Amino acid sequence: MANIINGKEISAAIRAEIKEATERLVAESGVRPGLAVIIVGEDPASQVYVRNKKRACDEVGFYSESYELPESTTQDELNALVDRLNKDEKIHGILCQLPLPKHLDENEVIMRIDPRKDVDAFHPENVGKIMIGDYSFLPCTPAGVMALLERSGIDVCGKECVVVGRSNIVGKPQAMLLLHANGTVTICHSRTKNLAEVCRRADILVAAIGKADFFTGDMIKEGAVVIDVGMNRRADGKLTGDVDFESVAPKASYITPVPGGVGPMTITMLMQNTLTAAKNAIKC
Ligand code: NDP
Repeated sequence: MANIINGKEISAAIRAEIKEATERLVAESGVRPGLAVIIVGEDPASQVYVRNKKRACDEVGFYSESYELPESTTQDELNALVDRLNKDEKIHGILCQLPLPKHLDENEVIMRIDPRKDVDAFHPENVGKIMIGDYSFLPCTPAGVMALLERSGIDVCGKECVVVGRSNIVGKPQAMLLLHANGTVTICHSRTKNLAEVCRRADILVAAIGKADFFTGDMIKEGAVVIDVGMNRRADGKLTGDVDFESVAPKASYITPVPGGVGPMTITMLMQNTLTAAKNAIKC
């Protein structure tokens, strides 16, 4: 039976380190990291994420502001808010909760956030830096996966890594981070032929497709490390991953559960990026 990678515990340990580093930063420079979160409209899931982000800021000692804008907000109004936050010295990180209502252009907002405050790492400048391996911010979920591997003592160097999913938020940056860690990386997607066969080659499998319990025991190599990024709601409301835990766990050497695996790491990495942004602002 696989070792369970406990994302809650690892996340709590990293948050404690961020809190300590924040106290030191405030004592030495008087600068307290500040995060602004913007949400437009009333999507209940987004509202929960925003509340959790505010709570995480309080936990690590950050200053935070949240802007809950009505569904009727225009692009000009949203742009004006981003412009103001870009100039605000108390704010080191700006996050606009996606998805936005249909009449607003997500790309325009991403492009408008000052790359130095782009703690989601979605701006093309930061995406490009990730590609060349010279970065300040890492996209939160893939960075969370790397932290889980590192803190579980799993060395990526030379391993066959298979990432299933090629989104800009998860799959592509995940593959790049595994490559920077010297993994031999394959990226799979919905057009991949013989997916099960490719997955069976993986020493480290990262599942990020958004399909409940898709990856079953027969798709896993004996002793593989299985990281489940998926977050899916079952008909009964229960949260489940992309990996069928029951059939995969007996074959894997390590596995992340859902919930309690990758999920808790994402906001923690957002805190890490905001701390980095504040430190960078002092250096400027
Ligand atoms: P997207 O829908 O943007 O991308 C899904 C990817 O999976 C696509 O590249 C798609 O391929 C691929 N895919 C879909 N079906 C299959 C299939 N049957 N076989 C192989 N590949 C397939 O999703 P995200 O990347 O945003 O998210 C993926 C999952 O991770 C979701 O469950 C999401 O909720 C979760 N998530 C969890 C986070 C966390 O904090 N734990 C944070 C972000 C996301 P193609 O490109 O060909 O269409």
